[in-house]
Parts: sequence; structure tokens; C-alpha cells
Amino acid sequence: MNPTPGPSNFVRDIVIEDLKTGKYGGRVHTRFPPEPNGYLHIGHAKSINLNFGLAAEFGGKCNLRFDDTNPSKEETEYVDSIVKDVRWLGGDWEDRLFYASDYFDQLYDWAVQLIKSGNAYVCDLTGDQVREYRGTLTEPGKESPWRNRSIDDNLDLFERMRAGEFPDGTRTLRAKIDMASKNLNMRDPVMYRILHAEHHRTGDKWCIYPMYDFTHGQSDSIERITHSICTLEFEDHRPLYDWYVEQLGIYHPQQIEFDRLNLTYTLLSKRKLLTLVQDGHVSGWDDPRMPTISGIRRRGYTPEALRNFCNAIGVSKTNGTIELGLLEHFLREDLNKRVPRVMAVLRPLRVVIDNYPEGLVEEMEAVNNPEDAAMGTRKVPFSRVLYIEQDDFKEVPPKQFYRLSPGREVRLRYGYFIACTGVVKDEKTGEIVEIHCTYDPATRGGNAPDGRKVKSTIHWVSAAHAIDAQVRLYDNLFTREDPNQTDEGENFTANLNPRSLEVLTGAKLEPSLRDAVEGGRYQFERLGYFCVDLDSAPGKPVFNRTVALRDAYARIEKAQQGGQKPK
Ligand code: ATP
Ligand code: MG
Repeated sequence: MNPTPGPSNFVRDIVIEDLKTGKYGGRVHTRFPPEPNGYLHIGHAKSINLNFGLAAEFGGKCNLRFDDTNPSKEETEYVDSIVKDVRWLGGDWEDRLFYASDYFDQLYDWAVQLIKSGNAYVCDLTGDQVREYRGTLTEPGKESPWRNRSIDDNLDLFERMRAGEFPDGTRTLRAKIDMASKNLNMRDPVMYRILHAEHHRTGDKWCIYPMYDFTHGQSDSIERITHSICTLEFEDHRPLYDWYVEQLGIYHPQQIEFDRLNLTYTLLSKRKLLTLVQDGHVSGWDDPRMPTISGIRRRGYTPEALRNFCNAIGVSKTNGTIELGLLEHFLREDLNKRVPRVMAVLRPLRVVIDNYPEGLVEEMEAVNNPEDAAMGTRKVPFSRVLYIEQDDFKEVPPKQFYRLSPGREVRLRYGYFIACTGVVKDEKTGEIVEIHCTYDPATRGGNAPDGRKVKSTIHWVSAAHAIDAQVRLYDNLFTREDPNQTDEGENFTANLNPRSLEVLTGAKLEPSLRDAVEGGRYQFERLGYFCVDLDSAPGKPVFNRTVALRDAYARIEKAQQGGQKPK
């Protein structure tokens, strides 16, 4: 990430102030601490951008740390995907890739220290009882009958918990704080639980595991983090974070909370995304409809677009929801500048130009990106039989339809003016199978010497030269702006959009796309931005539509057709 000034926000202001006062000796050291229990999503990108961005801007460091304290949900597959995703987003942790599980020995020693100082005890209440004793927001909790065990008993029992003497869930180690605290997190929180489970890194070394709250602050402390930046739901955990590091008398980082990213029509929760994967609603974590980093990467998003988006939405102290359209705006803005434009026909209609010489092929000069002259030009073959989009032709044109129809003339982009002279239909179905046109040889390059105008320019592909491709079009994965809002008795999957994926198997591409490789990005003129999917095989390209063009013209068209998809 660039060491250029980042966008101003309150977290950055705190960092600047701390640098001024020398609070951490002029150091800035942040971390991104994912739990490896799923793939990263766009919400994580906000946190990555903030943590790595601040470190880069102020000449500091940012660690990647796996918060892997829950062996039952964590997997190496997730670790690997997270490493790849953070790197793709531009996060550079150098040699500082850490795991909370690396600190299990130290955490155990610290737990013993808290027992010895009378600040922790082994509790024999079951999980349900612990909850019951905790009280509510309006009622204080009740003290555990085991709260006043002797230090020696506690040390002995904790040692035996570790040795595997007790079954899962029979005992916990708890901090002795205050069962009447207004903050429920301070009511003797559990520090360790018994869990006879294999850990993805420590194997069967441990059968007790530290809780998140007993791990996170101390991990920050060990790594000498200065600003421990997390999302707002941890605000109520901060007193506990502070309590542990203070009781232990260790280096004290500062926790700062910011707002979680929420996006319309999008779910950002690993647990729910896992449900979509496990129940087969999507093809996997990297399904291009998924809001995961791996999904949007496959879909054709760029890290730059995501970073620009994150910088634009900023960071605040109140949760809100951002329009998905804003993310798409930054995506288009980035792609518009950098990707070449080509012609492709998604739903082909055959056009025969009757007066064009049989066998002739002309190489038409096409501009690769009008936004960037340095991207040059290319040749596109033109011949007697072409394909155009089915919906660029109407036998009976509705009002304000200015594209091709019988007797009407249009411009073929980088080609000629053509006028429609006839329509050939399937005798049985009445479906239009081909149209006939004539071209005006004097209009080569797109202008008529007599100055006559046409109202529309359409794209095309030469039939003899076209490459066949499969094209996948995507719509929002959910039909509701807030996918979590459901009718009674339903869960969020009821809001899945049954039309989120449309597969077109007969698309025709201009021949320059013959060499397109996986990940390659293009603008298909008038249709949107596309990229080559990993399902492509030699001679069998598959393209994803990354995002449609924001195209006033397309919107007007849609409205005229009553919102219906053209056949
Ligand atoms: P999820 O609810 O999707 O499981 P999480 O917060 O449990 O998310 P973690 O792996 O613990 O996921 O997150 C790593 C970091 O990313 C944390 O600091 C967390 O606060 C941050 N983060 C997670 N989701 C978002 C989001 N939607 N917006 C901003 N930051 C987020
Ligand atoms: Mg979490």
C-alpha cells in the first residue's frame, strides 16, 4: 500500500495525535487479526485497508495475525485463502505472520499468574449455569459457588484441566472481576474452556483453549501493537481488554473501535456465507456472486477499486449501510481507465449484407481505449455475414427505438452504415433467424460523405471470425436490500435471488480475444466489463460479467420494454 496520505478519519487523527505526543515512542504498529473460520469478505477489506494503510502512511508496521483460538471451526484452507486475499489487497506484513496459537504457552502462564494473584478461579458450573448466573442488562449476576476456592485448589484444578482429566464443558477458568458490573463482559468472564479437539496448528497438545477476550489483548501486547483497531461490537469488551493487560502488568496497546461495513443486497458474515456454500446455494467461496474477496476477484474486481471504495466510505463511530452501487461506481471508474474495449455479441442475431462482396474481408481499425491513446488500436475483421445483438433489432420498432429495424439505417461501430431490407423467420416458430441488410461502401469508418446522420451505433462481430464463448451474467445474490430482513418463519436464504446467475452459451467474440487468459479484463462495448473465468478451457472461453455499464441509454430501453428481458 502507498505511503501517501490516507483519507482523514478519527482513527487516523488518534494516530497523528499519538505521534505528536510520543505516546508509543513514535511507533505505529497495527495488525489485521482474522479468525480462520471462513473466507474474507468485502467488510474485511475495509479493516485491511485501514490497518495496513495507516502503517504504510506513517512508516509503521502491520502484522497479519490469525486469531485461532477455536479449533472446532478453524481450518488450514481458510488460513491459506486469507493469506492470498490480504496479499492481493496489497497488505504487506513482511515477516510478521503470527498465530494466536503460537502464544498458547504464554497465555497459560499468564492464566496461572492471575490465579496466583487471586484474580482467576476454576468454576464447576456448566455452560448453561454460567449463563444463568450472569444476570441480565437490568439485573446483576450471582456469584459462582466456586468463586472463593483457595489459590492452591485453583492451581491444582487448572493444571488438571490442562492434563485432560475432565470432560468438555465440565469446568472453566474464570476471571474474578465483578458479578454486579453494568458491563456483562466484566461479570467473571470465562478465560479458558475444556475442549478435547484437534487444533489446526497445535494438534492435540491442548485440551483447554483460551477465549477470544483472554487472547486478543495479550496477543496485541506480545506483538507490541500500538493501535488495536477493531469493529464497534468490541467496544463493550474494551474494559476487559484493558483489565487483563493491567492485571498482568504487561505492555498496553490501545483498542479503538470503528464501524462495520454493511452493503445493500449483500451479506457480510462468514457464518452466513458458510451456509450458502455448505447448502449449495453458490458454487463455492469463490463463486463470483459471493461478496468474498476470492469471489469478487474471480468476478473481475481490482484491488485498486476496492481500496478506492474503502477510502471513500471512510471510517466512523456509527454503523450504517452503504449502497452496493457505490462500490460498483469505484469498480467502473477503475476499469474504465485500464481495460481494453472489444466487441462481443451475447445473444447473436445473424445479419447478411447482401451487397457486400462474397469472400471479402476488411480489417477495420478499432480504438482500444478512448480514455487512453497509449493503449493503441487493433484490427477487427469485417465480412458479409455478421452477428449483432438480438435486442438491437426490432421488426416493429417501439417509439423511441432508434436501432435497427426494417428500412432503418444504423452505424456499425468502426464499420459501415447498414440498412435493413428484410427478415427471415423460422416457418414453424415465427422466430427471426436472420436479417438482411445493405451497406453503403462510402460510409467506411462510420461517416457518410453526404452528411446524413443515423441515430444509433451498434456493435457486431464477423460470423466467420467469431470466437464462441460462454458468458455468465450476474445479478444481486439477494432480492432484498437487507438480506437479513425476512418474513416470519423464514431465514435469510428465502431472500436469495433465483435469477442471480444467467448463463449464455452462444456468445460470439471478436477474434482478438483468442489469446485472452484467465483473469484478463475487457470492456465489451455497450455491455459492461467482463473477465475470463477460471472455468475456461483451451478453445472454450468462459467470461464473467464483472459489472454492467452504467448506461442511461440502457435504462431508458429497459423502461420502454416494461423491464422485460428482450428475447
Ligand atoms: P464475520 O462476522 O464475518 O465472521 P468477524 O468480525 O467475526 O466477521 P474476524 O475474522 O474476526 O471476522 O475479523 C477480522 C477483522 O476484520 C476484525 O478486526 C473485524 O473487526 C474486521 N471486520 C470483520 N467484518 C468487518 C466489516 N463488515 N467491516 C469492517 N471490518 C470488519
Ligand atoms: Mg469473529
